[in-house]
Amino acid sequence: MMPTAYQTLGIHRESTDEEIHLAWRALAAEHHPDRHPERAEQAAKINQAYSLVKREKDRKGYNDLLELCYSYCKACSGKGVRAKQRGMTRVKTRCEPCHGSGVIA
Ligand SMILES: [Zn+2]
Repeated sequence: MMPTAYQTLGIHRESTDEEIHLAWRALAAEHHPDRHPERAEQAAKINQAYSLVKREKDRKGYNDLLELCYSYCKACSGKGVRAKQRGMTRVKTRCEPCHGSGVIA
């Protein structure tokens, strides 16, 4: 099964535009084809994933598509994140079973 755009970028469905941009920028630099010609294919996948989810309205359409192709992750109810108690605060962490995509292949 193809990884979802969220998995490719290491983000989750509730990531903000800015978080997604930063994640994409770091990965794009890491796999830059000028420095790593052997990673050109992965670099193309990263850019394609980013184009699918970079803006909130893009993610809406992409999420609809994901839900048609996959089944909802029950661990996070499709949110892609889970709240965990860490000391005094509840923090949101990327859901492990679905790797943040909110769906299970
Ligand atoms: Zn999940």
